Amino acid sequence: MRSHADSNTPSDVDVVIVGAGFAGLYMLHRMRGLGLRARILERAGDVGGTWYWNRYPGARCDIESIDYSYSFDEQLTHEWRWTERYAAQPEILSYIGHAADRFDLRRDITFGTTVTSAHWDDETTAWTLTCDTGAALRATYCVMATGCLSVAKQPDMPGLSDFTGRWFHTGRWPHEPVDFSGQRVAVVGTGSSGIQAIPRIAEAADFVHVLQRTPNYSMPAQNRPLTPDEFDTAISDFAVRRRICQESDAGVPHPPPTQSTFEVTPEAREHRYEEGWQRGGINALSAAFTDFFTDEEANRVAQDFVRRKIHEIVSDTRTADLLCPHHHIGTKRTCVDTGYFATYNRDNVELIDLRTQPIERVTPRGLQLAGRHVDVNAIVFAIGFDAITGALADIDIRGVDGVELHDVWAHGPRTLLGLQTAGFPNLFMVTGPGSPSVLSNMLISIEQHVDWITDCLEHLNASGVDRIEATEDAQDQWMDHVAALAADTLYPQATSWYLGANIPGKPRTFMPYVAGCGQYRRECEQVVADGYAGFRLGHPSRVGGGNRP
Ligand code: NAP
Repeated sequence: MRSHADSNTPSDVDVVIVGAGFAGLYMLHRMRGLGLRARILERAGDVGGTWYWNRYPGARCDIESIDYSYSFDEQLTHEWRWTERYAAQPEILSYIGHAADRFDLRRDITFGTTVTSAHWDDETTAWTLTCDTGAALRATYCVMATGCLSVAKQPDMPGLSDFTGRWFHTGRWPHEPVDFSGQRVAVVGTGSSGIQAIPRIAEAADFVHVLQRTPNYSMPAQNRPLTPDEFDTAISDFAVRRRICQESDAGVPHPPPTQSTFEVTPEAREHRYEEGWQRGGINALSAAFTDFFTDEEANRVAQDFVRRKIHEIVSDTRTADLLCPHHHIGTKRTCVDTGYFATYNRDNVELIDLRTQPIERVTPRGLQLAGRHVDVNAIVFAIGFDAITGALADIDIRGVDGVELHDVWAHGPRTLLGLQTAGFPNLFMVTGPGSPSVLSNMLISIEQHVDWITDCLEHLNASGVDRIEATEDAQDQWMDHVAALAADTLYPQATSWYLGANIPGKPRTFMPYVAGCGQYRRECEQVVADGYAGFRLGHPSRVGGGNRP
């Protein structure tokens, strides 16, 4: 493919990519394959994205590692050996580093650079990105591979600056080991991060106070080492396994359920849930029946099963009661844990209910709750992220006529396929709002988006144009479609980060596409088969559309 540099564009590179996580690295690799000049701008000191930052004790993936890996290179697949069913963060980070080395990616990455603005110039068909370092880069295309969970929600409790101990955010964990031995620790937050970190911190610390506002459903990981035989068998059939993931709803290689909850007897139902619980993993229960996400009563039966499990595991009834969630199971991200509920049987762990004893302020020695002071040496905030749109909102992005993405998305993100937004030509998002993204195995969704964008750029080049933009009409239709799909499920009823409900002032709109990876893939393929239907190719005011000979 001919580089855009040959066509006298003033750009420094053809494609600028923001973010060096799984998405950005694969994007860079594919761009090189097209013969394009590409560069990644990355805030961190190395590759890894979310796995670079989330180094808290207990951090590991909640998708089986064999599936939470790249599939684009057979040799890479065969030479890397995952040691556990669910790899821990250091192993995942090593894998990403290995991929970066293997494809010599680091030479085209600028680290330690935060992109602060991205402005489009329709005259020159170029994005200009500026960075906190003062550097600027021009590119014909800009790919935001900024991740869905990369902007940590900051603790806003009054008095935090007066705290004399150390405090941490799980999403911005220090690189050096943190020693909690002999310490009294407060952990605020009981989502996936807190639920993974609490058992490990409890093993190390003198005492742990868990400050819970809302309990969450958590499935046992049933993590274990992968035997060489098990690994070899999975890898020998990897292409087939990956194809199943791509066609599935959640991007995992499990057969879809075929029966609804009340089609089977209560005994058969219990048996199937129990099987799922013993198998473990994020879809332990959700994969059992077809109506898990859509039928209130069916969902309640699954909720009841988990509440019974919590009471079986946790000896103190009051603590077990407090740990029992009451929202629709699955409508907030289901957690996956190792020994989480059993941790509350330890003598050095106390669960505090923030609903009855809210945090009033942080003091120099701990946390002042309503009616009680909690003395601690360290506070761990596991309070989540400004998810899905946060990283884009952090950048001053301006499209045609200087229109700001911030304004266009004031009432919630609007995209076509989660890939582009009308008014922002040549700007692509990887796993953006309106795509399956966080409801799927991210690796499946990332590879699909990067492949789609790559094919798109190849098509543009072959067509002699260098501009593509989603149309308003197609975008409106897509957003209506995404909303209608979600409305048929229980998802929008939860106060989840899927809706932006965890960030004060963020517009509440259900962001992911719920119909699954397989269906979404077919929708994307149809758009291409229809000649990129819904996208305007070429410059609207130029004959022939392009600005290249
Ligand atoms: P999260 O799911 O948003 O959970 C944040 C927790 O902090 C919630 O319990 C929340 O309570 C609480 N919280 C937030 N602000 C608070 C405040 N001001 N005072 C008291 N409590 C507060 O965040 P997360 O646990 O970091 O997980 C986010 C997502 O990252 C997950 O859903 C998952 O997709 C991903 N993740 C995955 C893994 C994995 O297993 N691979 C591990 C970690 C994270 P409320 O519910 O009441 O707001």
